Amino acid sequence: MEQQQLTTVVQKRRTFAIISHPDAGKTTITEQMLLFGGVIRSAGTVKGKKTGNFATSDWMEIEKKRGISVTSSVMEFDYQGKHVNILDTPGHEDFSEDTYRTLMAVDAAVMVIDSAKGIEAQTKKLFQVVKKRGIPIFTFMNKLDRDGREPLDLIGELEDLLDIEGCPFNWPMGSGKNLQGLYDLRANRIELYHPREASGRFLELDAAGHLPDSEPLTQDSLYRQTLEEIELLETAGNPFDAQKVARGEQTPVFFGSALTNFGVQTFLDEFINLAPAPSAHELASGESLAATDPEFSGFVFKIQANMNPKHRDRIAFIRIASGEFQKGMDVTLQRTQKTLRLNNATEFMSDQREQVQSAVAGDIVGLYDTGNFQIGDTIYTGKKEITYPALPQFTPEIFMRVTAKNVMKQKSFHKGMQQLVQEGAVQLYRNYQTNDYILGAVGQLQFEVFKFRMQNEYNTEVVMETIGSRIARWIDPEQLDPKMSSSRSLLVKDLADQPLFLFENQFTERWFENKYPDVKLTAKL
Ligand code: GDP
Repeated sequence: MEQQQLTTVVQKRRTFAIISHPDAGKTTITEQMLLFGGVIRSAGTVKGKKTGNFATSDWMEIEKKRGISVTSSVMEFDYQGKHVNILDTPGHEDFSEDTYRTLMAVDAAVMVIDSAKGIEAQTKKLFQVVKKRGIPIFTFMNKLDRDGREPLDLIGELEDLLDIEGCPFNWPMGSGKNLQGLYDLRANRIELYHPREASGRFLELDAAGHLPDSEPLTQDSLYRQTLEEIELLETAGNPFDAQKVARGEQTPVFFGSALTNFGVQTFLDEFINLAPAPSAHELASGESLAATDPEFSGFVFKIQANMNPKHRDRIAFIRIASGEFQKGMDVTLQRTQKTLRLNNATEFMSDQREQVQSAVAGDIVGLYDTGNFQIGDTIYTGKKEITYPALPQFTPEIFMRVTAKNVMKQKSFHKGMQQLVQEGAVQLYRNYQTNDYILGAVGQLQFEVFKFRMQNEYNTEVVMETIGSRIARWIDPEQLDPKMSSSRSLLVKDLADQPLFLFENQFTERWFENKYPDVKLTAKL
């Protein structure tokens, strides 16, 4: 591709993830977006696992059994001249490190909040990961067709709980049965919940932001209340600040109802324009590389094994960070300095996996992997070495002791353990004294996947014994005295032999801090 053309197509990319608490409406809104993108023809197909095109993955038994998707898949479509990539982050309670890592591969995030519930636990956790990256975050307050909380409350909560300014782009006129519409502050119009035959969906406002007196809605007390709230927003609210949005310090807020497809298109249209195209990525050296650099480069943010049980394969998900990917191209794998030919790539339309011919910075490609890749690996073309920084590690929260059920299976047990840990499926620790294996994860599901895969791929039955949720804190080896350890503050070491304590709860951690005031404890991301 010519440089000029590369720049043009990269500028069209919009790569983002939707974060939310389970049931806030992520699937529903994703589906509406896919409808607008012309990818699906009717709603209800994303979750309809049996009939839909978008039964994201039946790859693993475990997914079938639990009816959930373990895999963060990628959906892409063209919309209003832009090429949209939505990276799915499983919205289930049991989320995993994959979910977090997926957030390392996007340029923006959309936060879907149930307007009756406000900000919930999972949203908060995911938000914090996105916030650390300093990328733009857009908010969709969903389920306006139900009675929800006061919009002013919801905006306030963004500041109180997430420490981010909310800047409303539209404002609800009523909710639940009384929902009349959205007062659109940007387009200076009212979007009606019940479009009228005569005037359609929109009522234009005058320069002062008012409806003409002849409009019956002006007699509605909801209208007057909305005007008061708008005035309040204009005097005391946060003015839109594109710089703050770009840094993730302010979030544009949109209201709507995904289920009734109200306000979703308005949101998508603004989002597509405001969300950033892929920009320069920082390298491990601290320099940065433009997305439009002619050399191809990318990093592995996820490895998924056994997507197709018939051919026990692994797929490495690559976020293209610069240049253009072409089928059959030769790249250097930075870690080993080996040359690889990328023949077998797949683009993701959920389970409609198609062969990719070419893709550019911002896109995700899946590469069939025979064991070459590790999470965080960089691949690139050209003579100049390119290295993206290691992906952050997330502090595990729950732990299990693990052993092989059959002592004769030690060899495959170790092999499986080593490979799955390398893939980043779980974190591995050893008891400092006994050397017992301890697994750590951020979600319970990771253990189940681990167990399942040990059985299926390495033919090893494992025995797992719950340690439960613990607070993991690393300690400087110089400051360590093994006597500091107890059953409530278990001392273990990580793969790099760094010591850490697994505290039973916050009290034990505080007790420890009081007892050893000079010892510095650190968490990961
Ligand atoms: P997810 O877990 O975040 O993917 O949530 P879903 O999209 O599966 O939605 C959870 C439930 O909320 C489903 O029963 C949806 O039909 C419902 N839902 C989603 N959006 C809306 C909405 O705007 N209004 C109402 N009333 N229900 C909604």
